[in-house]
Parts: sequence; C-alpha cells; structure tokens
Amino acid sequence: MGFEEHNTQAIVERELDALGIEHRRLAKTGVVGIVWGALPGRVSGLRADMDALPITEDSGEVCASEVAGKMHACGHDAHTAMLLGAARVLQESRESFHGTAVLLFQPAEEGPGGAQPMIDEGALDDPRVEAVTMLHVDPRLPTGEIGITPGPVNAAADEFHVTIRGKGGHGAYPHKAVDVIPCAAATILALQNVVARETDPLASMVVTIGTIEGGYRNNVIADRVKMTGTVRTHDPAIRDQAEAKLRRIVDGVAAAYGAYAQLDMLYGYPPVVNDTELAESFAAYTRANGFVVERPAPTMGGEDFAYFAKRVPGVMVRLGIYNEAVGSVHSGHSPQFRLDEGAIPTGIATLVAFARGVGDGAVPVPERRS
Ligand SMILES: [Zn+2]
Ligand SMILES: [Zn+2]
Repeated sequence: MGFEEHNTQAIVERELDALGIEHRRLAKTGVVGIVWGALPGRVSGLRADMDALPITEDSGEVCASEVAGKMHACGHDAHTAMLLGAARVLQESRESFHGTAVLLFQPAEEGPGGAQPMIDEGALDDPRVEAVTMLHVDPRLPTGEIGITPGPVNAAADEFHVTIRGKGGHGAYPHKAVDVIPCAAATILALQNVVARETDPLASMVVTIGTIEGGYRNNVIADRVKMTGTVRTHDPAIRDQAEAKLRRIVDGVAAAYGAYAQLDMLYGYPPVVNDTELAESFAAYTRANGFVVERPAPTMGGEDFAYFAKRVPGVMVRLGIYNEAVGSVHSGHSPQFRLDEGAIPTGIATLVAFARGVGDGAVPVPERRS
C-alpha cells in the first residue's frame, strides 16, 4: 500500500538494471528511470502508480494477492507492468527514438498521495518533462480500446465538517434556548442551493451531507450538531468558489437562527484536467496509427495524476479491460476485481506511442506552465 511498495520498487529497479536504463529513487518508494533516445527530440513523462488497496482479494484469480487485507483492486500492478514493458520497447529501439522518456513509477496514489512528493523532489525537472501521460484500466471500455477525453476527466473530492452550536435547554421551553436541530435542518436544505441555484446546470457539482449527529433525548433541546459531507467538482473555478459559498450559507443560516457555526474544509486531490490540445492531438495520432480510440465520459472519482497535469500539459488515457470471457467486468476497488491481461499490449503500445509522438513532434505539445 502507499509508501510500503518496497518489493515493487526493488522489482522495478531490477528490471530497469536488466535493460540498462538509468534510474534513481525518490518519494520514499518511487523510482524515476530515463530512456535516452539516440536522436534529438522532446521529453515525455510516462507515469504508472504502484500501490494496492486495503481489501482482501476475492477474485478467484490464480495470481490473486497472497496478503490478507491487501489487494491490487485498482489495476496499479498492471500499470507498473505496462510501464516496464514500454521501457523495454523504447530502450530496445532507442536508435530510432527521438527525444527522451522519463519513467515515473509513483507510490501511494490511493493515499496519502505520491505525485506531489515526486514533483517536489524534481521528478519533472531533470530532464525537464514537456508532456506527461498515464494509463488507467477501465472496465467501461472493452479490451483493445483506449479512451481519451479532453478537459476535466476526474473530480476533485473535498471533505467538509460543520459544527453548529446553540444553547441547550428543556424541550418544553424553547424560548429559553437556542435550538440547533431546526438550524441544522435549514442548513442542509440551504446547502443544496449552491448546486441548484449558484452553479451552471451544465457544470458538474455534488454536495452531499453524509453524516449528522446531535442531541441527547426527546425532551432536551440540543446545543450542538455535527455534520460531515463531500464536495465533488470538475471545474477548478467552481471548486475554488465552493468553500466560500458553503461558508456563507452555514454562517448565514446559523446567524438567522441565533446559533454559531464552524465550517472546516479538508482538501483532497484536485481534478484531473486533460490538456485539450494535447488530448486532441494524441487521440488523432493514435487513431492514425490504428488504435481504437473512444471518448468516455468523465467520472467523479479522484486521481493524483492531477498534480502532474497541473504542472505539465498532461493527458490521462483510459485502457479498456472489459472482457466477460475472463471475468474482467468488475469496477475498480471491488474485491472481485479482475484484469484482462489481454489489454496489456495495447497499454504498452499507447505509452510507446506517446513517447515517440511527443519526442519526434508528431504530437504537438503546448508550452509548460512552470
Ligand atoms: Zn483506485
Ligand atoms: Zn487507480
């Protein structure tokens, strides 16, 4: 699991050594390898996450996890294998390879997050990566297909906590107290106003209150209610405004009821925003090279590739794995999750196409932001 990928790190290093690819460690259990093409060209970044999830595997696979309570239920083991496969193809064909491929083997995607520590330790700077990609297996697409969608493709997942304080008292004498129960009810209803009346109906936003607790018994006026919730957004501008809008409602409703409220926001990963120009040009390039390229809908899940794509023009590619014949039909994070290994050659070919296309200029790259 996150930052425990010592065995995986050692395997990646062993394989890169066998291929004669230089590499260094960073972000504790991460590895950066570099494939130097023999011909001049641009620098691409290829990212694979490596961590597992705290789930006991129930897939029935011959290669199922042997560690109780730990499982590759999101396909990150396949992501790692495909990046090693791409490394081999690029290294063995380096005489005809324009540019440089930086191999980003990342820990802790499922949490607490390994992308930002890798960036902080210079993963994108030496050499200076000009465009970055990643694969994520996706059972919405059949094996053999890939998915490339411009713009936001994954959501920001932010958490919030609300505590409302009033004045307790006897249930029969409300006028002597400040009752937080009706205040909480009004707050919950008013919060939906942020989605329903303050956000473009064509944009994506979810505000969910997941828990509420408060009160002592039927004839006591509660002096405190606690609630927790999640906010999901795609558009960074909508996300940036969310906290202020929630706070205005929480504070305003509390004031109207004579109570006092506190809102705490806990920010998760930002949304993954595929660079539109890069996504369109890479989709056209792969299509021209015989790939079957779909344009799947965005999801409200989270993914810390977002940090790479904020720093460098980036595109997240979905890799189809749906195949009923081998039981590769479950969504990620399911204990029954299976992965059709027939998808692996398509994944390797996609990573190689990115490195070669960016490297020789066939896939134009917009300017890096910083
Ligand atoms: Zn996952
Ligand atoms: Zn994942």
